[in-house]
Amino acid sequence: MFDNLSEKLDKAFHILKGHGKITEVNVADTLKEVRRALLDADVNFKIAKDFTTKVKEKAIGQDVLTTLQPGQLLVKLVKDELTELMGGDVAGVNLSGNPSVILMSGLQGSGKTTFSGKLANFLKTKKNKKPLLVACDIYRPAAINQLHVVGDQIGVEVYSEPENKNPVEIAQNAIKHAKANGFNVVIVDTAGRLAVDQEMMDEIARVHKAIQPQETLFVVDSMTGQDAVNTAKAFNDILNFDGVILTKLDGDTRGGAAISIKSVVNKPIKFVGTGEKMEAIDIFYPDRMAERILGMGDVVSLVERAQEQFDEEEARKLQKKIAKNEFGFDDFLTQIQQVKKMGNMKDLVGMIPGASKAMKDVEIEDDAFKHIEAIIHSMTPGERSKPAIIDVKRKARIAKGSGTKVEQVNQLMKQFDQMSKMMKMMQGPGGKNLMKMMGG
Ligand code: GDP
Repeated sequence: MFDNLSEKLDKAFHILKGHGKITEVNVADTLKEVRRALLDADVNFKIAKDFTTKVKEKAIGQDVLTTLQPGQLLVKLVKDELTELMGGDVAGVNLSGNPSVILMSGLQGSGKTTFSGKLANFLKTKKNKKPLLVACDIYRPAAINQLHVVGDQIGVEVYSEPENKNPVEIAQNAIKHAKANGFNVVIVDTAGRLAVDQEMMDEIARVHKAIQPQETLFVVDSMTGQDAVNTAKAFNDILNFDGVILTKLDGDTRGGAAISIKSVVNKPIKFVGTGEKMEAIDIFYPDRMAERILGMGDVVSLVERAQEQFDEEEARKLQKKIAKNEFGFDDFLTQIQQVKKMGNMKDLVGMIPGASKAMKDVEIEDDAFKHIEAIIHSMTPGERSKPAIIDVKRKARIAKGSGTKVEQVNQLMKQFDQMSKMMKMMQGPGGKNLMKMMGG
């Protein structure tokens, strides 16, 4: 999810690499790229422009904390702004009525029926509610059947009147049925069309007026990008809905809808759908979504942990070695020992922005250090300082000596190679911070 956008943003932040301070000049290029990445992700032009202007205002003149590279500081500013743009706080669903009536709206194919089921299941299993699903699509018998299939799957009753052609009546009857039978939530699934049309809007407006739902939700397919935003606007004009459900986020590689929708209709995204299964529903957390979009880890915690381990003298030595291409397995071993003090390796890698991506082919196990240390201890001093000399024969010997397999030696060599590359990549005046991160 969002791979394209986060990769592009990642590249944009790289422009700042090597700068010690954020200035008008060096931030301009980065933000231009950020804007382009947002536009490519199908974010509305005005939103993208306002967004970068705001970030720029905040960024310029900021003292770059000694521990953070300017790129990282900008990532944080962008993340905060993205979070704000997507709604800031988590928005809940209003369940105050008895029964609480939830009206679902949206185009055909948006995932309305599927989401109605997911929500019913969520409320039943997580909130201890007794929901009733209501089929109000009077045009497509298949839609009614589909809701019954969903209901059966999750063990939730479905109310339908296949012969009745009046959705207002069906909805009202369903609420009566709910009251009489102890249902405390009524989820009304309505008819959708392939595109916004007047008849459909009139119909849902009538249902809305008649049943006065506590909560009106608008369901939209996140893969439709800008169209999602336009449809949301059309529905909001008629219904003044309470929240947005973004479906098919599992297939969304652009992310534009998530970013734009809140600021266009000024309604929060409440849930997201991430698959076809009934369990594929998530509460929408703007800050987590921002982190996901940026593909970033928890920089602040990482820096904090690294600071605790930081040894300036060691860091300087290490930096020199990297610069001179002399980084070897002995240094790797020292790094591992430092990193071990900071915590679990997998967590740490996840905290470094971009590192999870750079190391995605490298398998990192929690207890991987044990083998790694054994392998390095089986190397000769020559091999440790010049890993390039380790050929097939030497690998076999090292594997035997350390009680590991040749594949494990190969894996370590690959890991080492990746790490050296990463260190070189993040070199420059700001690179010192990476050394701090690595605890060296
Ligand atoms: P409706 O016409 O709005 O009621 O839409 P449906 O609920 O029938 O969904 C349309 C299609 O999208 C179906 O094939 C669903 O299985 C699929 N779908 C719904 N939600 C999601 C989701 O979050 N992820 C994925 N991948 N597919 C979904």
